[in-house]
Amino acid sequence: MKNDLLNFTQNELSDEIEKCGFEKYRAAQIFISLHGKFAGGINSIKGIPLKLKELLVENFYADVPEIENVSVSEISGTEKFLFSFSEKKIITESVLIAGKKRTAICVSSQEGCSIGCVFCATGQMNYGRNLSAGQIVSQIYAVARYTGAKPANIVFMGMGEPLLNLDNVVKSLKILTDDNGLGIASGRITVSTVGLINKIKMFADLITSQENRKIRNTKLAFSLQTTDNGRREKLIPAAKYNRLDGIYKELIYFYRKTGTKITYEYIFLPGFNNAENDIKRLSKLSYMIPCNINVIRFHPVKIKKENIMSDIINNNPEFYKESYYNKELKDFIEKLKSLKVTVNLRESSGIDINAACGQLAAKRKE
Ligand code: SF4
Repeated sequence: MKNDLLNFTQNELSDEIEKCGFEKYRAAQIFISLHGKFAGGINSIKGIPLKLKELLVENFYADVPEIENVSVSEISGTEKFLFSFSEKKIITESVLIAGKKRTAICVSSQEGCSIGCVFCATGQMNYGRNLSAGQIVSQIYAVARYTGAKPANIVFMGMGEPLLNLDNVVKSLKILTDDNGLGIASGRITVSTVGLINKIKMFADLITSQENRKIRNTKLAFSLQTTDNGRREKLIPAAKYNRLDGIYKELIYFYRKTGTKITYEYIFLPGFNNAENDIKRLSKLSYMIPCNINVIRFHPVKIKKENIMSDIINNNPEFYKESYYNKELKDFIEKLKSLKVTVNLRESSGIDINAACGQLAAKRKE
């Protein structure tokens, strides 16, 4: 059976190449071509003998994604990519976020998602499968080849729950931070999770292990949305088995182990998570460990009938009124600031092409 060449760390590749009877340094040449220079396949690998290239073609493949569609936001210039892997059998999306200062790429770690958050379009899709490390990193290379943009930041906030694909996500971090590859500093990478008990701890242990020291500064964002367990489980079904007290303990563990502050993600839902009590509890939470709270606007997604999201919208006739929403949002942020909470409003980018946070659904053009 052939293996995906993009799915090996440099050490693993060295072993493979040695097994095939070639010197180890050839593995570095292959790795540099594929991961550092974004070669789009085995035939684009430079500087290796023809015999080795023939051997690679015979024994390996490179699961380079095909770009099926690119949408460009007329408002922000943000670009959304629909990719297919493995001869169109797997589809996923990535977003190149054109920020004011730096570009960031938002990658997917799964095809679809089994968590089913009601505010997220991916959660309304069927779950497909975990993406391999090679399929995760090659989304970034495909965007770089297409646009010429090398990302300054990478966020695992596309389709899927990264901690449900922990081994492949950690391997992709190792590949991305390798000096012979993209060589991005791990502090420029953020992994976002809805919060899964044991997995946050495992992630902290993995990224701080001796062999993984290059990825130890990877940041963690936790999709909080509300500090109330009962309300949270209506938004995020997995919250029923992952209660906040348990998650908070693991976040403390993560902070102590890595020294990296946590980001709490909070989609602003007026009438649902902006009461005085919510503000007090957020303020208390902000003193638990160093953190910042990223408030995110709600980005419209297709909502299945009769869930809490439709209730939130239907119970508040002004929900979609921009002047009302903006005022409530501003008040909420100011109240938090007055309590000395570190809070930012995350820029919404790509709403017009369904590329903003929570909008990815990997729809093929009909
Ligand atoms: S928010 Fe994340 S975990 Fe929840 S359904 Fe969407 S992709 Fe899955």
